Amino acid sequence: DAPVLELRGVTKTYSVKQGLFGAPKPLTAVNDVTLTLGRGEVLGLVGESGCGKSTLAKILLGLEAPTQGEVLVDGERIDATDRRRLARRIQPIFQDPYSSLNPRKSIEDIVSLPLLVHNVGDAASRTKAVREILDIVGLPARVMQTYPSQMSGGQRQRVAIARALIMKPEIVICDEPTSALDVSVQSQILNLLGDLRSEFGLTYLFISHDLAVIEHLATRVAVMYLGRIVEEADVAGLFDQSRHPYTQALLKSVLTPDPGMGVPDTELGMEYPNPIAPPPGCHFHPRCPAAMDRCKIIAPLPIPTPDGHVECHLFDGDGPEPVRSIS
Ligand code: SF4
Ligand code: MG
Repeated sequence: DAPVLELRGVTKTYSVKQGLFGAPKPLTAVNDVTLTLGRGEVLGLVGESGCGKSTLAKILLGLEAPTQGEVLVDGERIDATDRRRLARRIQPIFQDPYSSLNPRKSIEDIVSLPLLVHNVGDAASRTKAVREILDIVGLPARVMQTYPSQMSGGQRQRVAIARALIMKPEIVICDEPTSALDVSVQSQILNLLGDLRSEFGLTYLFISHDLAVIEHLATRVAVMYLGRIVEEADVAGLFDQSRHPYTQALLKSVLTPDPGMGVPDTELGMEYPNPIAPPPGCHFHPRCPAAMDRCKIIAPLPIPTPDGHVECHLFDGDGPEPVRSIS
């Protein structure tokens, strides 16, 4: 089976001006990312705020064009200029249903908008499709004539899911879909997303800063740091025996009583680095508890593992220092 989604060497560089008179500097938000996703898989993409995961999502949605590399859906190269065709295959669910739903539109108008925009069916068939998809996401037909302000956070996220699924996409990009919700509602929405995946054979890219959420739903995990996928593995492999020191730090932060947003500074010793001036060598070396001399100079290359890859000198076995195991 051809992968349903494939990224080949995808890079996105922005030109960023620092201060009023500063010369523009390049910021590489996504740095040579290669990923493959089979039908029905859920790839969890984890990393701290600013690591490039939202930029990657925008590229997949055709909202940004990559500077280099290509995105393939079912083996066919997709193009950001071809948004109309893309929308039938890839749909987003965003973090904040409060801001992504138009407060002046009824739920029926919100959910049917993609059909209207893409000229699917007549008014009667669109209404029927809205009723059906609301039922599928667990909302009664009577909410059709209500407005987002009359709904709870969980109900609004169900509306956002209905709006994404009404186009019958193959791939759904979930960007922190439960982060704005109460914990009790989070698991309901995660369960719903899991059920919808098996019912419709959907493939998800599931973006989260929270590894606990990813463990709940993902089949594979990619860990992103300063635009690079530093480790990729099956979900069981990653949680049982992660290789990259950054992944291990993220896993430890999951176990703290209040992980909050992202990784607590206490675990990694310093703030996330400025992506305009990434540290030389391994980008992670200033925060890495296992850093060796060569980490400060030489960037590690991806090393294949049985279920993915890891990008860390601890596993490449060359250079002056012996390979160490991490306890
Ligand atoms: Fe740490 Fe070196 Fe591995 Fe980077 S390459 S993660 S600094 S041990
Ligand atoms: Mg983001």
